[in-house]
Amino acid sequence: MSSKPKVLITQKVHENIQAYLNEHFDCTCWEQEGVMPRAQMLESLKEVQGVFLSGSPVNAEFIEHAPKLRAVSSASVGYNHFDIEAMKSKGIIGTHTPYVLDGTVADLVLALMLSAGRRIAELDAFVKAGKWQKGAVKGNDLFGMDVHHATVGIIGMGRIGEAIAKRAVNGFDMELLYYSRSRKPDVEELYGAQYRSLEDLLKESDYVVMITPLTPETENMIGKEQFSLMKPSAFFINASRGATVDEQAMIEALQNGTIRGAGLDVFQQEPTPIDNPLLKLPNVVTLPHIGSATEKTRYDMTMLAAENLVGALTGGKAYIVEELKGLVKS
Ligand code: NAP
Repeated sequence: MSSKPKVLITQKVHENIQAYLNEHFDCTCWEQEGVMPRAQMLESLKEVQGVFLSGSPVNAEFIEHAPKLRAVSSASVGYNHFDIEAMKSKGIIGTHTPYVLDGTVADLVLALMLSAGRRIAELDAFVKAGKWQKGAVKGNDLFGMDVHHATVGIIGMGRIGEAIAKRAVNGFDMELLYYSRSRKPDVEELYGAQYRSLEDLLKESDYVVMITPLTPETENMIGKEQFSLMKPSAFFINASRGATVDEQAMIEALQNGTIRGAGLDVFQQEPTPIDNPLLKLPNVVTLPHIGSATEKTRYDMTMLAAENLVGALTGGKAYIVEELKGLVKS
């Protein structure tokens, strides 16, 4: 009988990463595409000490099925799918994958700003529909808004926020405002970032970027009142989680011209339903939650998540989420 800890791997991983996991663990693996179905996941938890997953909820139901569970490793930096109190009460460590995706997510945020501001998706569809004909477009029909030298307001100046700041200032000469729970002297010094209250940031920014974690405090942080403070010429970019924004209020703000446009990587419900009014609006760029989705970054996140699981179950190094660090003696 194997003396290695038993773990459940709920999604197919690269063969190198699988080999690394097999060295350390007695693995039960989901071999098919996509994620192991929830019912099967719950059934497979009985004997395991560790689980590797991405966005699957680790809640009371999950924990009830896993009496021997000691650690859950998520291949993501966001961990709003962890029920922190439930995990804490059973002493279950949760880990995540910070840093390795910062540049990739920041690149995508700049892409959303450029796509929304310069109307890339809308005008790509325009050309492909054969509407670009002599005499058919006049005056300012195709005009957008500059990104360079505009003012960007970043809500959530953490790891990814700083990577966005660097690109915005060094690459696009943008004016930089930010709002976070705490001031960031390094970012102020390096990029000339100016701290603002949320209200002032919303009033002054041409591009508002939401990149906080989803927590009880940030849920619906941007709603009707916040959209009404923004400039009618402003663009709203959300790459955090869909639930940080009141989606209905955002739809209304985009339909009635309270703001000019939006670039969205995340939605209240994912996949977003085909009848979501956002999908009908030409001033909105929509993406299927691909912030970190490049081959290299997803490989790096998966490898880091595997290393975290090994570290968490062997007393080695692991990126334990802030709220659960107290479970491990330093
Ligand atoms: P991070 O380093 O922890 O930064 C989060 C920032 O948000 C911190 O500056 C924090 O402020 C701020 N914040 C937290 N709660 C706040 C509140 N109530 N009010 C104001 N600011 C608040 O995290 P990160 O690595 O940059 O990732 C941020 C989030 O991006 C993740 O949690 C995830 O939800 C999202 N994300 C999305 C994708 C995607 O595919 N679209 C990919 C990766 C990450 P303090 O520093 O002052 O505490």
